[in-house]
Amino acid sequence: MKLYLDFEPCAECKEMMAALSSPEMLFADEKTRADESAKFLRHLTYNHTEVLQAVMEDLPKQKKDQEPDFYQ
Ligand SMILES: [Zn+2]
Repeated sequence: MKLYLDFEPCAECKEMMAALSSPEMLFADEKTRADESAKFLRHLTYNHTEVLQAVMEDLPKQKKDQEPDFYQ
């Protein structure tokens, strides 16, 4: 999941990014990964709106099937 953007992550962000890139998560099932991604996006929505905006602007440039987590 490509979310390592140029911004100042808060403690919660770091925690979630670490969780998302942990080996446990890599081997987790689809739903668990989707849930974690959704949680992180929700956090961005409420706490880092400028980041979310950058993500959304970046999305159309990428192939949608490469970032399925965004659409769940
Ligand atoms: Zn944060």
